[in-house]
Amino acid sequence: MKSFQYATVHSTASARELVADKGAYLAGGNDLLGLLKEYLISADTLVNIKSLPGLNKIEHGRNVWTIGSLVTVAQIENDADIKKTFPGLHEAAADVASQQIRNVATVGGNLAQHSRCWYFRHRDTQCLKKNGDLCYARNGENRYHSLFTGNSCISPVVSSLATIFTSLDATAIVLRDGKETRMSMAELYQRAWENPLAHNSLSNTDLILRVEIPTTRSRSAYLQASDKHAFDWALVSCAAATTIEGGKLKSPRVTLGSISPVPHQVEAANSFLDGKVLDDATATHAADLILKDAKPLEHNAYKVPLAHALIRRTLLKLKGEV
Ligand SMILES: Cc1cc2nc3c(=O)[nH]c(=O)nc-3n(C[C@H](O)[C@H](O)[C@H](O)COP(=O)(O)OP(=O)(O)OC[C@H]3O[C@@H](n4cnc5c(N)ncnc54)[C@H](O)[C@@H]3O)c2cc1C
Ligand code: SF4
Repeated sequence: MKSFQYATVHSTASARELVADKGAYLAGGNDLLGLLKEYLISADTLVNIKSLPGLNKIEHGRNVWTIGSLVTVAQIENDADIKKTFPGLHEAAADVASQQIRNVATVGGNLAQHSRCWYFRHRDTQCLKKNGDLCYARNGENRYHSLFTGNSCISPVVSSLATIFTSLDATAIVLRDGKETRMSMAELYQRAWENPLAHNSLSNTDLILRVEIPTTRSRSAYLQASDKHAFDWALVSCAAATTIEGGKLKSPRVTLGSISPVPHQVEAANSFLDGKVLDDATATHAADLILKDAKPLEHNAYKVPLAHALIRRTLLKLKGEV
């Protein structure tokens, strides 16, 4: 690890000033310290943001709930009101990594975590994401990679919270150039879709302040499949959220994670589900639509049937039948 300065900040203005071009925000440190130790990034200053006031709270508004970016994944998992109001968010949080990691991992750090591609994580491999010439995964070991991508990098977004936040239509409030900017989850990752160098749309000084979740969708569910039951990222994750009125779905949203550089939503599937009574045939057709354009690689074709099954099961879970 290269040497760096360390500063604890108490205001967002100091945080931005200190992080500048070459510093890095430090929250729980689960991802950042690994990146530094493996020489994947270097930072001249680590800016400890955990003392920033007001960002560690979950607030329950009438129409919108606010989750501060320093709220830990365990806080979400253990919040009884979240479990009741956004069961899918509780399930996604409870599936992250391990209890020890959830205790310190923050919402901001979870959303901004870097690629898990093993070529990217290898300090001696200079792939496209590290300004090299080649994506080694494309014709190499691509078991954990994307079924969809907008550029030559096939590393997927692996934040479980991003998957459920997308289905809940949550908005990230980001401090950019001193102003609060609202970003949908699609916007938060759009740059990773377009640009192989990007992990998300944030610049070095952009600071996620909080996430706002509208209370419009009263039902939500989340499922993931992983190699290991704990201490592992999802091979595929799926989140669904909706309201059910008169037995019919209203404004449903289905999202897949770990299969694209952005949380994957297909508008045609959401529109198809809208106004339908949920049954196995409906859920199956939605899954067909969501995966219609998937482009599996040599080692990750197993993700297609896995995602198909997860979509069906997550949707049926909204009715409480799985
Ligand atoms: C074995 C293992 C299994 C895992 N499984 C899962 C899983 O299933 N699902 C999942 O979602 N995650 C999983 N994780 C990842 C883990 O959840 C993340 O590493 C963690 O959430 C990062 O949060 P942190 O607060 O520790 O971030 P840090 O490591 O402190 O920061 C991560 C990145 O985010 C930036 N950052 C931090 N806070 C902000 C902010 N407020 N605004 C802007 N940028 C910020 C940092 O500069 C850094 O680049 C796993 C991790 C491990 C080690
Ligand atoms: S998938 Fe992306 S991160 Fe992985 S080797 Fe290819 S370019 Fe690098």
